[in-house]
Amino acid sequence: MRFPLAPTAKIARHIVQNRLRGRAKFAMVLQLEPLHTCNLTCTGCGRIREYSTSIKDVVPLDKCLAVAAECEAPMISICGGEPLIYPRIEELVAGLHAQGRMVYICTNGVFMRKKMRDYLAATYSAATEPVLKDLVGQKLVSEAEADAIRNAKPEARAKVVIRPSQWHYWNVHVDGLEFTHDLIVEREGVFKECVAAIRMAKLLGYQVATNTTVYKETDVAELEEMFKFLSSLGVDGHTISPGYDYDAAKKDMVKRLGKDPKDFFLTRDLTRQKFKDVQRWGEMFTIFGTPGYLEFLAGRRELACSAWAVPTYNIRGWKAPCYVMTDTHYPTYQDMLGKVDWSRFGVDEKGCGRDPRCENCMMHSGFEPSAALSTGLRDTWVNFRYNFGSRPAPYPASTELERRAFNGATVGKGHMAEAKAALNHGLAGARSAYAQGGNDLPHDHDHHPASSNGASCGSGDTSQRDELLAKVQSASKTGLPAS
Ligand code: SF4
Repeated sequence: MRFPLAPTAKIARHIVQNRLRGRAKFAMVLQLEPLHTCNLTCTGCGRIREYSTSIKDVVPLDKCLAVAAECEAPMISICGGEPLIYPRIEELVAGLHAQGRMVYICTNGVFMRKKMRDYLAATYSAATEPVLKDLVGQKLVSEAEADAIRNAKPEARAKVVIRPSQWHYWNVHVDGLEFTHDLIVEREGVFKECVAAIRMAKLLGYQVATNTTVYKETDVAELEEMFKFLSSLGVDGHTISPGYDYDAAKKDMVKRLGKDPKDFFLTRDLTRQKFKDVQRWGEMFTIFGTPGYLEFLAGRRELACSAWAVPTYNIRGWKAPCYVMTDTHYPTYQDMLGKVDWSRFGVDEKGCGRDPRCENCMMHSGFEPSAALSTGLRDTWVNFRYNFGSRPAPYPASTELERRAFNGATVGKGHMAEAKAALNHGLAGARSAYAQGGNDLPHDHDHHPASSNGASCGSGDTSQRDELLAKVQSASKTGLPAS
């Protein structure tokens, strides 16, 4: 079976029960944003910009649990911000599990290993030794950390921790191979940390998913390579969604990065070109998406928007009308359901946005539920066959796959490489580490707009590099040493 039986049965039961109650609209997945604080500043992320004035606020734990109960969604995606910064994340996960919900923690992966060490410390016994030795052997846990786990203090032993469960997924953000991912998250080393966290999670028996956003400059060949690599690590499934130019992300792009959002985000036609292989990927890898949504992405069908099925709750309330657009926030889910004129959103039969902001949207959070909730006979049968069909086998691990994955900072080709070289050796000796795109894979875009300025695949910010280069240039003009 492609997905675990118990959660799949629970979701099916939720749909049937709501239909029997005569409800036309109901929640399937709650996007719970308990905070918007983040340790990264990913290009394309609107959250840390849209909610910048309340970036330090958090939704209290009891409120988080109450809104999950209120909307009754069987699946809770805890996002943000970075949810692992939420001070009571362990209690939140435990509380949601106690409510019988499937929990996805959408994380950038940077704090995952710390949370898993907490789990090891709380549950350590002699039986833990073999896996602990394995983790040390693979350099996923240091000797000092292993000793701290073995000799955990009573507070650490008593701590509520995030445990492996069929009701829990780490959902790790990965937008490409090392060079691209680090560029998009605007920090070198993040991809490497994500991979270490995934390896550790799989050794400990956690379920791991990944989520990937596809942008205009995303290299499709690279994505397939990324899925092969993630599959070889034992990742249980992947979500993939086209990037959307929502207002906050757009404004940030213009103001902070001086970029035109049109160069970064996808139109509907471009999305369909990018996703033309998505159904083949659905056969090769465990893509978490209904076949109907994959057909929609590939341009083989239309779907209506059902943003009400994936509501977002954050520090200001229920965000309407959807995950990406903010017109207002409501105090309750029912209030939002009743007061939003849902017929104003999505696209019409001709593919035109009912609201101009919907024009290019093919987001997972708007359209995936439409396919999952379809009552058409064909959709029902295809969804059933997809869910109950066998799961694609993991892609065989190989050193070549690994070599291709670590194509950035690990091999001295990170997006900061030229700036660092310039700082260390002076501009004249700086070697263009990314002149070949930092990527050994064949590219699908000859028109790469960034290639002329030395940047590469992915299309994230180069501000760290540019800042360093600017320092070097101004230092060389004034004759002062760069600092
Ligand atoms: S089409 Fe997209 S932008 Fe428009 S309401 Fe639906 S999810 Fe939101």
